[in-house]
Amino acid sequence: MAGIPEEKLQELRDRIDIVDLVGRYVGLKRSGKNFSACCPFHSERTPSFYVNPERRSFKCFGCGVWGDGLDFVIRMDGKSFIEAARELAQRYGVQLPAGLKDTTTSAQQTERDEAYAINRAAAELYREILLTGEEGQLGRLYQEARHISPETAEAFQLGYAPAPAEAGWDRLTRHLQRKGLSLPLAEKLGLVARSERTDNFYDKFRGRLMFPIIQPGGAVIAFSGRILPEYAQDQEGREAPKYMNSPESLLYTKGKTLFGLNLAGQNMRRAARAILVEGNLDVVTLHQRGYRETVAPLGTALTAGQVALLGRFAESVVLCFDGDNAGKKAARAAIPLLLDAGIDARIVALEGGVDPDTAEPARLAALLEQPGSALEWLMRAMVAAGARDSIDAQDRALSALAPLLAKVKREGARELYIDRAAKLLGLPPGRISSALQGSREAPRPPPAPAAGPSPHPARSGPARPLPELPRSQVALAALLVDNPHLATLAEQAKVQDYVTDPRLAPIVRAVIEAAFAGEQPGEGELLELVDAAAHRQVHDCVFTGLYREVEHPQQELAGRIYDCQRDVLKQRRLDIAAQITQAIERGEQQQARELSLLRHDLNRQLAELERQPPSFNSSAAARP
Ligand SMILES: [Zn+2]
Repeated sequence: MAGIPEEKLQELRDRIDIVDLVGRYVGLKRSGKNFSACCPFHSERTPSFYVNPERRSFKCFGCGVWGDGLDFVIRMDGKSFIEAARELAQRYGVQLPAGLKDTTTSAQQTERDEAYAINRAAAELYREILLTGEEGQLGRLYQEARHISPETAEAFQLGYAPAPAEAGWDRLTRHLQRKGLSLPLAEKLGLVARSERTDNFYDKFRGRLMFPIIQPGGAVIAFSGRILPEYAQDQEGREAPKYMNSPESLLYTKGKTLFGLNLAGQNMRRAARAILVEGNLDVVTLHQRGYRETVAPLGTALTAGQVALLGRFAESVVLCFDGDNAGKKAARAAIPLLLDAGIDARIVALEGGVDPDTAEPARLAALLEQPGSALEWLMRAMVAAGARDSIDAQDRALSALAPLLAKVKREGARELYIDRAAKLLGLPPGRISSALQGSREAPRPPPAPAAGPSPHPARSGPARPLPELPRSQVALAALLVDNPHLATLAEQAKVQDYVTDPRLAPIVRAVIEAAFAGEQPGEGELLELVDAAAHRQVHDCVFTGLYREVEHPQQELAGRIYDCQRDVLKQRRLDIAAQITQAIERGEQQQARELSLLRHDLNRQLAELERQPPSFNSSAAARP
């Protein structure tokens, strides 16, 4: 690639910690030698995306995307090669030569790179002004008044955009100009505007505490500014909006970004939950109090794209919205989106007029310790609004509730909710269950699109459907994958004779061989053994973890082998039946008679097999 000397590039590649890097964007779980997650490049609910720290690479068995750390950032953030290299070099301490120019970059990419540079310059200026600038006095006082510590301000890279009274109308404009950056492009990013009267550029953010919106990789893509109380009204007495956010731009899509994600990502994974608040200041405050898994949806109602982002890191989301009506409404709107994504929705319900930033810390801490179920909160709100006052009201509440209950993925949890709903609404549980049946038969909405740029089309085209995997063999393979300690027993029982499907056989063989060598291969390594076209299919059937906590693994093994034996016998009986038909059609009576005897013998074997309960003493009885 033009620009960066090859040895520098190698140094950079060697220094990138791919687990750290990718872990900023998705919640990685250890899986053997590798790490796995739900793929950030396509929509999925079971992980098929793997990071291999040894090879410093990532690969998705679902959509086929793969590459190294540089490729990952280019794909995730839509960066050019040079821009991605620059960012990673800075993070991992590699000195790149100055004045790099990538001659292969398109005009569009050059514009993106310059847009990143403009945002970076603006964030640095705002930060500097808040830290030490003469024109940042009021900003510093406001930071103090909101009890934001210097460390927290640094972590969020908070800044201050001075008001005209403090630094004129063009403090940022002049700074960008001096750096030789494009003002028309800064206008597209919503940082400056052009005066109709004088045709000069002037700053858009004025008199505001600035919250840069930062991608997990560290790039600033937009800003959110909170007006200082001093500037809440302009000279004509008009109320300024409390928060002003950058418009959508070539770098920034509102519905696919969360404020605080760059700091919260890995903490959400660790805490196994995300806390979702409404305002940027709430995020900052909660982080400062130790709740570093907190993010906010940036002035919009929560979107499916944002939920997909949350789902990459956490299985549970705690809604911690303002106690006013708007906050309650936002919570009500968020619940179905979370349930749709299979996320456990929890809630911390604050009293009217209280928000997470102003809530009494000890009380909020106690609430966050044990957040209640969002569904139950919803039911109680319905009852409080009169849902059991009349048959009509009960009926309306039931029709509103049934589709939500139907979205609860785990059956056990769903049953509990049905019981709770029955008690709260004063209806028999059967009534609720049948309402659920009705709403579950309704067509399901299409799955939420994955956030982030779409993968390369050539690598993601839908594959031809493959023949279904034999179910009993899948179960046997999955059992062994989840319980490699069964290897000796499995080998003695000759399981490899039963798992014959070419998509499953290599996995079973590898699990047994590795177990004898004292190793446990990860899912990624095992999938590598299978034809690429079948990766997705095998992954979704075999690596489900279904047998991970099975109570009697040996008994289970006997049972799964038994199923395979029976299926093998049944398949042979089907084959022979077809051969008999053919023989009769061809008039080969003798052949047909011999085949019939074989079929008779198979029937006898099957009957014998079915008389014996599956156990290891009988497993040799009817081997094919
Ligand atoms: Zn994928």
